[in-house]
Amino acid sequence: MRKLLTLSLVIVAVTLFAGQTKQESQKEFVMDKVEKSDQEWETCLTPEEYQILRENGTELAFTGEYYKHKEKGTYVCAGCGNDLFSSDTKYDSGSGWPAFFDALDKTKVNTKSDISYGMVRTEITCAKCDSHLGHVFKDGPKPTGLRYCVNSVALDFSPKK
Ligand code: FE
Repeated sequence: MRKLLTLSLVIVAVTLFAGQTKQESQKEFVMDKVEKSDQEWETCLTPEEYQILRENGTELAFTGEYYKHKEKGTYVCAGCGNDLFSSDTKYDSGSGWPAFFDALDKTKVNTKSDISYGMVRTEITCAKCDSHLGHVFKDGPKPTGLRYCVNSVALDFSPKK
């Protein structure tokens, strides 16, 4: 009986310890979120940025500042400055919007299902401020086979130093 009790205590202790470790390791991946009210976003973004970033808008194809942009550097979120895409993964998809075959880091871009306009698409948002960036499609080049199709308005560019 005593053995059983000791064993139960050990199991409880191990479970508690494991729970704690799990919580701590999860903490490492929690990004400092940028949270603003609609009113605050309206004051810090241009009307065009607000429409695309906060109201899931789309800029006209072939008009964006970064569609044909070829400089080396990092594309960051226009809403919060979060590093999103490297110029090393940028390619010309012919779609009319800047395209990348990968995100800089999987933790920086979130995806969610988007069924608006009668289409089934996967929306991409900035993981730090939840701003709408564009969509990701499975018709990209190797090695990922993905096409992150991003609005230029949702991006700012930081040249490589
Ligand atoms: Fe952001």
